[in-house]
Amino acid sequence: MKNKHSALGFSTRAIHHGYDPQDHHGALVPPIYLSATFAFPTVEYGAGCFAGEESGHFYTRISNPTLALLESRMAALEGGEAAVAFSSGMGAIAATFWTLLRPGDEIIVSQTLYGCTFALLHHGIGEFGVKVRHVDLSDLDALSEALSPATRMIYCETPANPNLQLVDIAAVAALAHQQPGITLVVDNTYCTPYLQRPLELGADVVVHSATKYLSGHGDITAGIAVCRHDLARRIRLQGLKDLTGAVLSPQDAFLLMRGLKTLALRMDRHCSNAQAVAEALQAHPAVESVTYPGLRCFPQYALAERQMKLPGGMLAFELKGGIATGKRFMNALKLFSRAVSLGDAESLAQHPASMTHSSYTPEERVQHGISEGLVRLSVGLEDVADLLADVHQALNKCIRTGTPRPTAASAPAH
Ligand SMILES: *Cc1c(COP(=O)(O)O)cnc(C)c1O
Repeated sequence: MKNKHSALGFSTRAIHHGYDPQDHHGALVPPIYLSATFAFPTVEYGAGCFAGEESGHFYTRISNPTLALLESRMAALEGGEAAVAFSSGMGAIAATFWTLLRPGDEIIVSQTLYGCTFALLHHGIGEFGVKVRHVDLSDLDALSEALSPATRMIYCETPANPNLQLVDIAAVAALAHQQPGITLVVDNTYCTPYLQRPLELGADVVVHSATKYLSGHGDITAGIAVCRHDLARRIRLQGLKDLTGAVLSPQDAFLLMRGLKTLALRMDRHCSNAQAVAEALQAHPAVESVTYPGLRCFPQYALAERQMKLPGGMLAFELKGGIATGKRFMNALKLFSRAVSLGDAESLAQHPASMTHSSYTPEERVQHGISEGLVRLSVGLEDVADLLADVHQALNKCIRTGTPRPTAASAPAH
């Protein structure tokens, strides 16, 4: 969509794109259209809407003016043609899968994925005749080998949740598009379009959990898919309207747009705070290893520099001493909250072995690259001195009572 704001900078678009107060009684902040249905001026106009010949709104599960503004803003930020808003990230991912995949198709996915995406693949779409293949997408030869005439989609997160492994989007896109009919879908939740724009690197669809950084305040669940007009239309009319019904409420679209206004400011602060915490962890004797794309020891540091504007607000680290030390560290935290999710103003800490992945056996955790002492931090927007003080006091408790263990068994995930 050519818009008078489309040539402007990122934050200017995040604040102004697609909205002119003079079209809305001068209201500086976009109004919320709390209406499920829309009245037609004539029956002919209504018929045109149903036939797809008129662009007017007629029912909020299909479109709504508040959602349309959010969608055009997200498309402008990701560098895409169109977007579709959903009531959760899983809504966006599920609608994309159900729209674009059919029984007999194959989907290639990276090895490490957000837990519910993994479940959707294995207990959802996988049980309806779609074949799921896990491939290490940092290995282009392995990807080449895994491609088959039945491959319809390649799906990845970069950085991945929780081990922060990166995928070279441009390289995977180039390989994927040598074969017609393959859609490359990238989950851009960890980066947001401020740090990384997969569509500009050749991806076909970007999906987001807007519950995280995009809304940024931990008060809504929301999702977005951004892509070309033709794909967005299919995802809207099949995946959203008929297959999932996972429509975002106009109230939550408003909160999401409010979050977007400060996205760049917040991401800058998340990244600088995370860099400081990563460096402090690295220097502490209780820590075995730190995984953060902003550290020179990060195995894909060069790719991170090329692909991401800044290294992000998420980091993972390995404590010496396994699960007991992990629990001790977690319970000692005073400012970081023990919570799943990410991207909030509040700093959050997660210990997969005793929280999200506690139902796995230790062997299963090893298989999924989750070691016993792994801690994941979502570094928030607090004053960095307070965050560092909290991390230090919790780490010091790990040393005083921690039991040293042989280092051979504690190799980092990479
Ligand atoms: C949270 C998350 C999701 C799922 O989003 P919801 O909004 O919780 O449905 C998908 N992908 C990633 C990377 C996430 O962090």
